[in-house]
This record gives sequence, C-alpha cells and structure tokens, in this order.
Amino acid sequence: MGRVYNFSAGPAVLPEEVLKAAAEEMLDYKGTGMSVMEMSHRSKAFEEIITEAEADLRDLMGIPDHYKVLFLQGGASQQFAMIPMNLMKNRVADYIITGQWAKKAAQEAEKYGKVNRIASSEDRTYSYIPDCSDLPVSEDADYVYICENNTIYGTKYKELPNTKGKLLVSDISSCFLSEPIDVSKYGIVYGGVQKNVGPAGTVIVIIREDLITEEVLPGTPTMLTYKTHADAKSLYNTPPAYGIYICGKVFKWLKEMGGLEVMKERNEKKANVLYDFLDQSKLFKGTVVPKDRSLMNVPFVTGDADLDAKFVKEAKAAGLENLKGHRTVGGMRASIYNAMPMEGVEALVAFMRKFEEENL
Ligand SMILES: *Cc1c(COP(=O)(O)O)cnc(C)c1O
Repeated sequence: MGRVYNFSAGPAVLPEEVLKAAAEEMLDYKGTGMSVMEMSHRSKAFEEIITEAEADLRDLMGIPDHYKVLFLQGGASQQFAMIPMNLMKNRVADYIITGQWAKKAAQEAEKYGKVNRIASSEDRTYSYIPDCSDLPVSEDADYVYICENNTIYGTKYKELPNTKGKLLVSDISSCFLSEPIDVSKYGIVYGGVQKNVGPAGTVIVIIREDLITEEVLPGTPTMLTYKTHADAKSLYNTPPAYGIYICGKVFKWLKEMGGLEVMKERNEKKANVLYDFLDQSKLFKGTVVPKDRSLMNVPFVTGDADLDAKFVKEAKAAGLENLKGHRTVGGMRASIYNAMPMEGVEALVAFMRKFEEENL
C-alpha cells in the first residue's frame, strides 16, 4: 500500500522528502556508522545537528538575538505548568479562552496563582475569536496567555490581542512555521512540534532572555526551570535527540521551499480551495466565523451525524485518512499542515463534491 493523504490533526503528515532523507541516513548517519537514535547527545555529530537546527529556525522565523530557543520534552501540555512556574511573580495571569487547549492551560495555571479569564468564545462552541482590542487586562498580571491557532475548533487570531503592555505568551503548536510571525511581540512563543514541524516528543520554546531567571515559584523542579535548559543549551539532560534531528530536516525543507512567506501563500491557496468549496456547498458547512478561519485546521459538518460518519468511512476507503472531527465537536476536520500538498486538498474537495452529488 502506498501513502495516503493524511489529514490528522497531530501527530500529522511530514514532508515525504524529509522522511526519505531520514530513511537513507537511518543505518549510517554521515559516516558515523550509526543512526542518530544511537549516538551520544554529547557527540560532535549531534552537536552539529542541534546547532544547525537552531540556526535554521532562527533564520526562518527571524528570531531576535535576545531570545533563546529551547528544545524540550513534555509536549505543549507541560508548558501549561512551566509557564506559570517561571513567570508568575505576582501570582496573577490573564487567559483568553478560545478552546480546549487554552482552557487546560488556564486550569493548570490555577494551581499556581490567580487566573483571570478575560475573554472567551465558549458561548458559541469556540467558533470565533473574541474581540481583543480592549480587554480588561489585570493591572498586576504577570502575562496574558493565548492559544493562537485552535486545533480542535479551527480558529486563528488574525491579530494579536492588545495586552496593554503586559507580556504575551502564545501556544502556536498548530500554526508553527505556517506563516511568518514577529517574535519580538511575544514574551514566550512555544509549540509541540507534532502538528506542523516534526515527530511527537519535542516542544520548542522561544523565550525572551530577560524572562529566564532563577526566581521561579518555590518548589519548581530543576527540569521545569527555563534557566536550566537555557544555560545548558538544551543539553542539561538527554534531549529528544531524534525529534530534534527531524525538526532540523523540516527546517531545511522549509528554507528550500522559500521560507515562511512562501509557505503562507501556499497555505492560503490550499485553505481557499477547501473554504471556497464549503461556502458554496449545499451539503457541507464550515463551522467557523469566516474572518477567524484557520489555515491549518478546517472543521466542517453536514448537520447529520450518520451522514458525517458515512463520509469519514468512505473517505478513508478513498485514501483520505483521519477526517473525523474532534470528539467534542463531531463532524469532520481536515488538518492541512505545511506538508499536505495541494493535490491532497484537491483530492479531498473532489471527493466531497462526489459525496454531495450522491447524498443530497
Ligand atoms: C496538540 C496541542 C496541544 C497539546 O500538545 P501535547 O504535545 O500533546 O501536550 C496543545 N496546544 C495545542 C494548540 C495543540 O494543538
């Protein structure tokens, strides 16, 4: 069996060129006689891998010099705790609730201090991004937290919130490297890589240098202190070495593709093919307010749960995999990350058109 078009929300599709290159180096990485999985993280070969990965990421994202890049473990979810433990000096933080991941982050932060939920789109099943131009930002807030692309609900901030001078912390797990961002607008921007960048097991944290201090909450474990990892250049303990290696290959692939401006254009073209179809369809309907639509995750429904299930089943048989929506939303969701080719989106739309003719 060949490869399918994989619309999974994560772990998700990776560029075929990257997988092939990794396969070629599997038994003997550049004459070392071993795979990257088998080598010391203190070896010269691995030091080159992590150094180059960081340099390429800095280049791609235009990361300013006064920001550190950390390659950590524990997934995005571990950051839900690590952020308050390291940043909550006043033990107060503001959270904007645009879905499950922001909600979970807020619940975790509540273990460490007072959490103010200063905006939410829960009233309409997170189908939009609240107006964030004039929020009741708390005077003593240590930071304002957002989840920038909501993987489950398919919304994305098109404009960052006005934090009224407070530090902005953002989870970009599902829009990482999908388009350029201005890193200097954030205190911390981070993401688990298994959505749009690499294999599960690595999380990348980009953090402004002055936020890396020893003054963390009492009882914060060494491993959950940013300073530990910053001082050791992400090699305090054994890092997720193979994951970092694959991320590095994806960074090079992105550079070869032309960088993040080009990826943004490509992603817009792909998403438009799907949204344009949804907007004229008589059977399928997008669930998100058009102005807040994500380029990466596209949820849609027929309005009939049995028909949705039939669609997912028949799509799978046609080589279009993982289109079932999140269990909390139902319906369908197509995740069309960087590595999803235009042909995959076109195949999906052709299949939807045929399904509509047969079932309307
Ligand atoms: C998947 C996801 C998470 C959770 O990631 P883990 O690495 O599984 O902890 C958090 N935030 C967003 C936006 C996600 O898409």
